[in-house]
Amino acid sequence: MMLLLIRPLTSALLAAGVLLAGVAAARTQAPAPYRVVATDATRTLPIARLSGSTDMVALDVLVQFFGLTMREDARTGGVVVSVQSQRVVLTAGQATVASGRRLMSLSAPVVKEGTTWLVPIDFLRVLDPLLGRRSEIRRASRLIVLGDATVPRLTLRVERTAAGGRLIVGVEPETATRVTRAGNQVTIRFQATALDVESLAEAPTDLLTAVRADGPTLLVDLGPTVSNVRQDDPRNESRVTLDLIGEPNATSIRRPPDFGASLPAPDLSNTVRTVVLDPGHGGSDVGRRSQDGLEEKSITLAVAQRLKAVLESRLGVRVLLTRDTDVEVAIDRRAALANNNKADVFISLHANGSPSQSLRGWQVQSLDPADYGGAPNPGSTPETASLSVPVVAGGTRLITAVPWHLAQIPHTRQSATLAQVMATHLSEAGLPSQPTPVVQAPLRVLVGANMPAVLIELGLLSNAQDAALLGDAQFQDTLAEILAAVIADARSDLFGRNR
Ligand SMILES: [Zn+2]
Repeated sequence: MMLLLIRPLTSALLAAGVLLAGVAAARTQAPAPYRVVATDATRTLPIARLSGSTDMVALDVLVQFFGLTMREDARTGGVVVSVQSQRVVLTAGQATVASGRRLMSLSAPVVKEGTTWLVPIDFLRVLDPLLGRRSEIRRASRLIVLGDATVPRLTLRVERTAAGGRLIVGVEPETATRVTRAGNQVTIRFQATALDVESLAEAPTDLLTAVRADGPTLLVDLGPTVSNVRQDDPRNESRVTLDLIGEPNATSIRRPPDFGASLPAPDLSNTVRTVVLDPGHGGSDVGRRSQDGLEEKSITLAVAQRLKAVLESRLGVRVLLTRDTDVEVAIDRRAALANNNKADVFISLHANGSPSQSLRGWQVQSLDPADYGGAPNPGSTPETASLSVPVVAGGTRLITAVPWHLAQIPHTRQSATLAQVMATHLSEAGLPSQPTPVVQAPLRVLVGANMPAVLIELGLLSNAQDAALLGDAQFQDTLAEILAAVIADARSDLFGRNR
């Protein structure tokens, strides 16, 4: 299981994903970072720790983030932050700072820990007049809105109706929208920079399977029973109301595929040299479990081992597994193994479950860059020069100046291509897919991978048919054949061969 929905979860994952050298924070305990939205970019600002209930930021991180300068003042023992000719003086232990001639108070005292200065997040307000713009801090949403960026707050509610259901999206402040539908997905595009989405507690999965924010767009994946969608009162800018009209018996499932069909032998030329396969879960982390007690961790391992054998014998590709026994492997070590071995492709294997037992099928996922600071900005320098990635032997190692939590960003396009190639092969083999076969999502396991990377949910263990297939050795072989063909085929798409 690796299905992720909207913001609070995203923040929690980001919190775990941020690994910044030089920030005096216990990485496991660091609070969730803030998403900083400006009209030109969305970036991630890590929080070092809490002081009471106040989020504390490392001053050097903040200074780099906003392109300021800082220097310690040996005479006073304070630190001076400069914006061009304007100066702000901070003193350790004091909640009052001097900005020019003005004294401004902060919600918590400035702290000096070793060589690191920490300031409360509302220090941003002190910087606002100096930087000539406004900042709005939304603590609960882990969001900072800068300047002219607009980030409406959305609240989601689902109601049952006689015809099926209704999704009501409250919008504050009022914002114009455009609603479109393609297949099982409804897209609500807001005239805004980004969205601040409150989590949807319990959505009936027959009506909705996922709701995700992607920049200024809300993506709504419809459940299997919804046949029609109608927007009620489209001119209302404070509320988007979608009637989800059901088809009473719309649980038809595609015919199970014919697994006897043999697949074409993959091309043997070789540009992908190393593939890292990541069997999800392991050890005490069993993952999803079917009604019959079949565990996700054993399926992912079985498929990975079969795929490794096919790739090695048929394609001559070097294949490494993040685990080849039933052991627990920390999530960062999985991508770290791939980075360490300069893998060309990283594939994480999972199976999922759904509250709706009729729902079945595979789904291919790649990282959604929007949740990790947006697309790479060619002119920009990384937030910190001295960044390290965890390595397999333990400890960390400096790679290029790519922050760990951004390692996947330059590869997201190739990863999305790989996901498409995989989806095409799975469809052509006749395997049923989930309503949305290919998605981009905030995926913790992929974020540190410095190469094209995808995650495949092989099926839904909550569905009896899927569970029976996934536990079947012959079907596992079929999956291995299909995925090996994906690697053979993806080479040209990913690395420009035959194009
Ligand atoms: Zn999983």
